[in-house]
Amino acid sequence: MSQLVDTHVAVLTFPHGTHAAPLLAIIDRLASASPKTLFSFFGTAQSNNSIFSTSQPTPPNVKAYSVDDGVPEGYVFVGKPQEDIELFMEVAPQNLRKAMEVAVEESGRKVSCLVADAFFWFAKQIAVENGVPWVSFWTAGACSLSSHVYTDLIREKFGVGGIVGREDETLNFIPGMSKVRIRDLPEGIVLGNLESFFSRMLHRMGQVLPEATAVFLNSCEELDPDRTTDLKSKFKQYLNVGPFILATPPPSVPDPYGCLTWLDKQKPTTVVYISFGSVVTPPPNELVALAEAVEASQVPFIWSLRDKSRVHLPNGFLERANGMVVPWAPQRDVLAHGAVGVFITHGGWNSLVESIAGGVPMIFRPFFGDHGVNGRMVEDVWEIGVIVESGVLTKNGIMRSLDLILAQEKGKKMRENLKEVVALAQISVGANGSSTKNFKKLLDLVCSQNHA
Ligand code: UDP
Repeated sequence: MSQLVDTHVAVLTFPHGTHAAPLLAIIDRLASASPKTLFSFFGTAQSNNSIFSTSQPTPPNVKAYSVDDGVPEGYVFVGKPQEDIELFMEVAPQNLRKAMEVAVEESGRKVSCLVADAFFWFAKQIAVENGVPWVSFWTAGACSLSSHVYTDLIREKFGVGGIVGREDETLNFIPGMSKVRIRDLPEGIVLGNLESFFSRMLHRMGQVLPEATAVFLNSCEELDPDRTTDLKSKFKQYLNVGPFILATPPPSVPDPYGCLTWLDKQKPTTVVYISFGSVVTPPPNELVALAEAVEASQVPFIWSLRDKSRVHLPNGFLERANGMVVPWAPQRDVLAHGAVGVFITHGGWNSLVESIAGGVPMIFRPFFGDHGVNGRMVEDVWEIGVIVESGVLTKNGIMRSLDLILAQEKGKKMRENLKEVVALAQISVGANGSSTKNFKKLLDLVCSQNHA
């Protein structure tokens, strides 16, 4: 390994959804392993405040810098989808450049490596300007990564003029994607508006990522062997360095609503935990269907639901409930609790990994982005959960899925499959495991001055 000297790594984070928190987790690990390297961590003030206050104590060689969120003074949101993201992204390249200059000036150290969220395809240019390697972090799983890397091929195969009637055709021409159907793909590949800002951003990302010095992600090679082989051939270095949660188990977070104490009183694998992540709220009719299903099934539950959505719950539901509705739950700890038997989720990658680590089968209600492909992997490849019938939350559909997982042989089998998946993941983060070896490569690449 090359010598680790007083290097300076610029970390460019995407401040929306759950992107910055996992990046901070791995940066903390790199910073602890390389105390002489300085990590300047760039995010919006809101994102930085939120993740630095809830993360484990950050090593002293990680310093947060705020970048502007791109929302002009006095701007009134018109309610366009991803409006905040577009505003941020439009000015992100120049704002990040400016913030990097401040960090260089303050520290007196030139930047020696650029680590950036994969969404920032323009990071390649910033790296070139600074004459440093560009190391890209993909926040989600390998399946969605393949979808973006192969966008041009998928479009060539299926055309872009609409795919009505072909939604169940599979992507069997791409390694590791034989179970994935067109309908599962993130929108903007062949479904939805291909010309939206977001679609164009992801398309560009898929085209330029193979030029990155390395691409790393919070997963392990063994979870996706075919795709691992394929993506290793596509990228200069393809480094699975997770699951972070197993590699360096994070400390418990506060539990202000007493979820864990309540779980202590429940029987093993009986409770349903419900959460749709940090961005999604299901439409009111689906919230009602979910509440009715939970009540009719008489399953004890913890439901993480933002306060503003409580108004959609059926009259008297909260009084009759055999469970808790809380605005935020200590999800990792909840999923690791033996009382939890099933997780109803939107299918974000962090939720999926936390559920696997906790050995909890999932019921997926996919909304956008990678949720669909994640759900397909869970249902058809790893067989550790199901996608909810007809793709939306209905009372009967949820009741059947709950019964399948909590009471039927199939649910038992899913828990056994989960044990196998967890065992593979544990080996990967063990002393000689693939993720441990990849982490060492990442450390060398990111913290070393010698990038030959
Ligand atoms: N989360 C949590 N408590 C909640 C809801 C979510 O701690 O009540 C955390 C969860 O543990 C996960 C993240 O929020 O780490 C959600 O990430 P994911 O990638 O699943 O979805 P996103 O927020 O990006 O839609």
